[in-house]
Amino acid sequence: MAEEKPEKPSTVDFAREITSKLGGETITYCYQCGTCASSCPVAKTTDRYNPRQILRLALLGQRGEVLTEDAIWLCASCYNCQERCPQKVEIADVIYALRNIAISEGNIPAIYTEFATGLMSEGRIVPISKFLEKKRADYGLPPLKPTGIEALKKILSATGFDKIMFKKGESQ
Ligand code: SF4
Ligand code: SF4
Repeated sequence: MAEEKPEKPSTVDFAREITSKLGGETITYCYQCGTCASSCPVAKTTDRYNPRQILRLALLGQRGEVLTEDAIWLCASCYNCQERCPQKVEIADVIYALRNIAISEGNIPAIYTEFATGLMSEGRIVPISKFLEKKRADYGLPPLKPTGIEALKKILSATGFDKIMFKKGESQ
């Protein structure tokens, strides 16, 4: 017998799902005034990001769009919006809750998978470039070598970080 797939949440279910997550509790207080968008430094620089719009889509149950588009990853976590929201919506924390749901389903931007790969293989998220190696040598500094990787791998494995980050790749 074919295995039944769990149904995706409906409009109301998605709001409930978000409020059940750490950080997502206040999303339903939003009355779409737009104060967050006008306070947001990221929204000032790109049309691709608008916190009010993300909350609106989420409250309308646009689960797929919210979780798979890159908008939720553009928040800089400056908390400007959160300080100013008249409804005390914890907007930056709601964005974290949305990211956590997205990650749990394998929706992770490639750049973060690259960071995780670097963390697991070299113990740092940004690889040391030839340019930096040369600069260090010019200043008389020793070359940087991967350190503590085994300990790091144990921590990442014990916390489930490795499985969560590479979930998408594993299932393909
Ligand atoms: S400032 Fe608060 S109430 Fe206004 S749109 Fe943003 S989250 Fe909603
Ligand atoms: S926390 Fe995110 S959404 Fe809020 S103002 Fe800063 S960048 Fe914009």
